[in-house]
Formats: sequence, structure tokens, C-alpha cells
Amino acid sequence: MTPFKSLRIPETGAYWLREARIPECLLSGAPPAAADGDGSLLVDLLIEGGKIAAIAPAGSAPVGGMSVDLAGRHVWPMLVDVHTHLDKGHVVDRTPNPDGSFAGARDATSYDRERFWRHDDVYRRMTFGLRCAEAHGVSAIRTHLDSHEGQGDISWEVFRNVREEWKGRIDLQAVGLFPIDIYRGPYGVHMANVVARSGGIMGGVTRASGQVHGENLADIDMLLDTVFRLAGERGLAVDLHVDETGDPSAATLRNVAEAVLRNKFRYSVTCGHCCSLAVQDEREVERTIGLVAEAGISVVTLPTVNMYLQDRVAGRTPRWRGVTVVKELRAKGVRVAVAGDNCRDAFYAYGDHDMLDTFRQAVRILHLDHPHGDAPALVAPEPAAIMANGHGVVAKGAPARLIVFNARSLNEIVSRPHSDRLLIRDGRALACEMPDYAELEFVRAAKDFPRTAPTAQAAQVAAE
Ligand SMILES: [Zn+2]
Repeated sequence: MTPFKSLRIPETGAYWLREARIPECLLSGAPPAAADGDGSLLVDLLIEGGKIAAIAPAGSAPVGGMSVDLAGRHVWPMLVDVHTHLDKGHVVDRTPNPDGSFAGARDATSYDRERFWRHDDVYRRMTFGLRCAEAHGVSAIRTHLDSHEGQGDISWEVFRNVREEWKGRIDLQAVGLFPIDIYRGPYGVHMANVVARSGGIMGGVTRASGQVHGENLADIDMLLDTVFRLAGERGLAVDLHVDETGDPSAATLRNVAEAVLRNKFRYSVTCGHCCSLAVQDEREVERTIGLVAEAGISVVTLPTVNMYLQDRVAGRTPRWRGVTVVKELRAKGVRVAVAGDNCRDAFYAYGDHDMLDTFRQAVRILHLDHPHGDAPALVAPEPAAIMANGHGVVAKGAPARLIVFNARSLNEIVSRPHSDRLLIRDGRALACEMPDYAELEFVRAAKDFPRTAPTAQAAQVAAE
């Protein structure tokens, strides 16, 4: 067996990847072969012209010619991160969350946005994040963009330029994000037009400005009707932040599903977080899941950020994991994806835009094991289906965007960070280094966040 660090991807011509082990859920049009105990198949892949030219049962690649013997190591498609905030990322040295709470995150982010988010600042942090993701083997990202008045036009202009610059490296989508009560006024129409002109996605968070989820939204149905009307008129998909709280009275997921059905909305709808669904009465949970399934809504769970923010009370150990009811949703046919969410900002102090790390943590947090089943699908084909971009599968004729792991089983995948993973893009080895934290010196230099004590609201939430 060739040592992993001696594997070399040919620099020219066609070649075979022999004995590649691929989870069946990541393979499209798999050849007849017996799955191993993890549900993975051993195959030979012909890479030609930057594409996967053939998928054959292991051992069928012709003798001679160029080949790389993987000896049963795992090969995955590059991964897909369908919910991120590239505009918020890497500000942790400048504007940290004062107390780790949701309200603290909201207030620190508003402060940082209003103080610093001009073109250059957003561009440098956004592209830093993309370079991290690229070096980890992420091929597609959907980012939400804080689109408040005074900010939206700046961030969308940066995004459009970055999307163009990154074509062929990371496929990018963006969602316009602000509290849903902003749709009461004319600015919502302006942003819907910006989103439409930018080829973006309509978004929002189902809480009121300056509030936490579950408070003060008596007109939620009217606001949702406005969102779906503006999106429908422009043919736009919708992606909302929903019920990011452990307060069971926050139950706007049901309002969203009812609004989709009431408005006969025809385009894709995605809801992120949906945390409080996990702490509601079982009958209510079942009813809401039924409506979500009927409305064809996809759900995105953000396990690392939910673990960080949910159930955080000063001086008290958290008692729940913060994640939504992934298994129950999937059992009723609801499409679910796992995504990374925030990275080194007030909503989540850590992270590196590494979807493998997100997957490894998701397996532990959500118990996606015993058996692992099709868990890898949640970070590749499922989010790719939400993005409708064809990424996230190993398929004949698809671009050869692959990750080779020094691992022969899902247990070996989940147990190590695999910092030595091999990346293949358009059929060739992709050598890119992680960007150096020193490049973020401009963030640290701008540090002037005056508040070190919890905000009044954060302290109040913590006390409740
Ligand atoms: Zn988010």
C-alpha cells in the first residue's frame, strides 16, 4: 500500500484512481458493487479532460497506463456549505461577543457592521474566508449578507465582484438578510430589487429588529406574505433564519410553512436553525413537520453555532444541544442539510470554513451514527440540491472536484481532522495553503470595541 504522502496525482493526461472507496450516498449512477459495512462502494474512477469520465467496479481499470492506487481510501466530492456569513467572519479580535449570548452577538454585530463594514473591510474578510474554505475542499457556498439600510448596497456590490473573481474555484450564492419587520417599509422593496438584479436569494430572520426570537411579531403572517409576494413577483428563492432559540413559544416555522402554502409559492424555500422545534410539545412538532413537508421547505441545521449560542446562561452548564429535530424531519421526507454558519465572529467565536470539521462535529452532536447511514449526504448532495448547482456528487461526466482522505472507513473519517487531505480540482492536484492569520492584522488594529460587560439585554436574557 503506497504511503498516503507518497500519492501523486498526474499533472497531465488521463488517469485512473484505483480502488477509491465512496459512500453510496455521494455517488450518482453507481456501478453494481457490494457496499461495505458503512454503505461505501469500491470503484475505479477514470479522470479525463478535468471530468470523471468513467466509474467502474474496483479492479476493472485496465492494466498499464497512468493510475493512482488508493488501496481503498475514501474519495468524496468537494463539500458544499449552504449557510454561511462570509460578511461577518473573522472580526473576533475586533468586536467579540461580550458574553457569548444571542443578544450579545446581535448587538456586537450591529456595532461592528455600522463601524467598519466598508467595501475594503468586507472584501478582505470575505476572501480570507473563501481561501480557508477552498484549502479545506469546499466547492460551493451560500452566504447570507446583512442587508440593512446603508449596508446592503455595499455588501452586495462586494459580493457580485467576489462571485465573479471566484468563478471556477467556489460557486457562490447570496441571501439578503435583515429582521423581517423591515419588510413593513419601502426598504424591503429596494432590497428585493437589489437581490433580483444580483441573481440572489430573498431572505430575512423571523424576529423583530433589536429583539430575540419569539418576541413582538404579531404581524408575522403579513410580513411573510410580503416576503413571498416580493420573491414570487421576481422569481426568487427564499432562505430564512427561523426560531434560533430554545424558547418553545418561538414557533414561526409553522407560520412560514403556512405562508408558502397560502401564497402557493412556487420557488425554493429554505429555513435555517429551527432550534425551538426541538423543545416544543411533541404533537406540535409533528404538526409543524407535516406542514413543512407539505410546503416542500428544506431545513438547514447549524450544529456548531447552535451548540455555542443555545442554552448559554452565565454560571450555568448548558443542558441541551441546540439543534433541530433532524431525524424526525428526514423521516417525513423533508430535505435537511448541515452547514457551517458563522466563523470567528460574535455569533460563533471559532471555525475555519471547513465542512469536514462541520460534518465530524455534526455526527457527534446529532448522533448521525450507529449506523452512519447516509450522513455524508448532509454535507454534499443535500446542500447542493438546495443550491441547485450540481455539486456534491461523484457522477460520470461531472467535473472532477474530489477529496482523497487517508481513511478507509467512516470511523477513520470522523476520528481525525484530516489536515493532510488531498484535493483534486478539474482533475489536477489543488495545492493551496491556508491564509495566514497575520493577514487579518487590519482587523486587530481596528479594535476599539468599548463594551466588555454584558449588554443590558443580554443580561436580561441570561436572567430569564
Ligand atoms: Zn446564519
